[in-house]
Amino acid sequence: MSQEHTPQPPATISLQCIRCGCTYPTDVVRYLCDCGGLLDVWHDLEALRPQLSRGLFDGRLSGAPGPRVAPTTNSGVWRYRELILPATADTIVSRPEGNTPLYEHSRLSRWVGVETLFLKHEGENPTGSFKDRGMTVGVTQAKLMNAQAVACASTGNTSASLAAYAALAGIPALIFIPAGKVAAGKLAQALAYGAHTLQIQGDFDDAMSLVRQVCDQMGVYLLNSLNPFRLEGQKSIVLEILQGFSWQPPDWIVLPAGNLGNTAAFGKALYEAQQLGLVEKIPRIAAVQAAGASPFYQSYQTNFAERITLKPSTIATAIRIGKPVSYERAIRTLGWTNGVVTSVTDQEIMDAKAMVDNVGIGCEPASAAAVAGARKLIAEGVIMPQETIVGILTGNLLKDPAATVDYHTGVWPEAQFANPPVQLEPTMEAVRQVIEAKL
Ligand SMILES: *Cc1c(COP(=O)(O)O)cnc(C)c1O
Ligand SMILES: [Zn+2]
Repeated sequence: MSQEHTPQPPATISLQCIRCGCTYPTDVVRYLCDCGGLLDVWHDLEALRPQLSRGLFDGRLSGAPGPRVAPTTNSGVWRYRELILPATADTIVSRPEGNTPLYEHSRLSRWVGVETLFLKHEGENPTGSFKDRGMTVGVTQAKLMNAQAVACASTGNTSASLAAYAALAGIPALIFIPAGKVAAGKLAQALAYGAHTLQIQGDFDDAMSLVRQVCDQMGVYLLNSLNPFRLEGQKSIVLEILQGFSWQPPDWIVLPAGNLGNTAAFGKALYEAQQLGLVEKIPRIAAVQAAGASPFYQSYQTNFAERITLKPSTIATAIRIGKPVSYERAIRTLGWTNGVVTSVTDQEIMDAKAMVDNVGIGCEPASAAAVAGARKLIAEGVIMPQETIVGILTGNLLKDPAATVDYHTGVWPEAQFANPPVQLEPTMEAVRQVIEAKL
């Protein structure tokens, strides 16, 4: 092991193949096992069990931050550092992330068909999506590895987040995005944060295979969710939910599923929390795909006898993925959590989004798949109305303004909740007529 350039990683973590169990040290760059299997960051749960407790994590829920926001090891990600990446305050690259709100709204819950639907709003992270939770860890690890450059392929939010964190760390970032298929807000972020942005004539899966070759051949550090450190950061969504419910877990966590990184991370977090005795029972996971980009759902229907891949098509660009990277990790999550998979149409996604938006919460299209999926699973009797459900709103309303405006201005003829703007003459009489008609 070379120790001249990279600090010695803490002894409690290593990389472990999820297929054959082979382990590798974390101070050498590696994304796959020699057998081709995906890697996990493995924590020594036996050694951690006596050190970790609910009280330790609750004690880090300190008060409001001071006027100067410094990287903090009490953030929504780093307060769980023993379970993520044991890094110190002077090494972490953080805005900080997490501590996202858990909303509920009676009108929305009624529409979904439950007593109370909780919504964890990950769109309220620094760059507007949950990707920040993975990226703070991924870029911190890149810094620990002395990476000269970092890269990812992205449907948009990963690149927005990587661009920001690489800029914070002062590391050049290379971003591969499918040309013409990234929402305006996300593309704007990548450019604004100074990332080298490469628009590929192809879809996400083409961009993904290209970035993997670039990283292998040019020594650039890969920060797609193939990289297991990102998933460690994303586990903190679940840890925060458990802690937010005073370690009395909800019955269900429902989330949108594209590349399956979050589905994978959630399962691992729940498995580890239960192994460590932080919770007695764990929620079931429901992963929701868009009907036009549902390879995981279709594979699930074959009981995973067949791994289906396809050319994806959906309005929800963040989950427009035909060959999900974390496929095997996500299957493991279903086993650990007695999880289910479903799919929803673009129409269902956009109507659910309009409801989430209309109660004053708001989200991007992919996020609304969680709400549409919860509604479907309740209608089907898979989820019971009195059960406690947490839906994950993965991204911010402002990420994809075009999708929202199209919905409300007639591009979606079946839009149930369209709120079109009114055109009128600049006269008091015209305004009076509109107001009398509307109110
Ligand atoms: C990345 C992303 C997803 C999909 O998450 P996966 O981990 O790829 O399944 C869903 N919604 C938003 C807003 C995202 O940015
Ligand atoms: Zn292996």
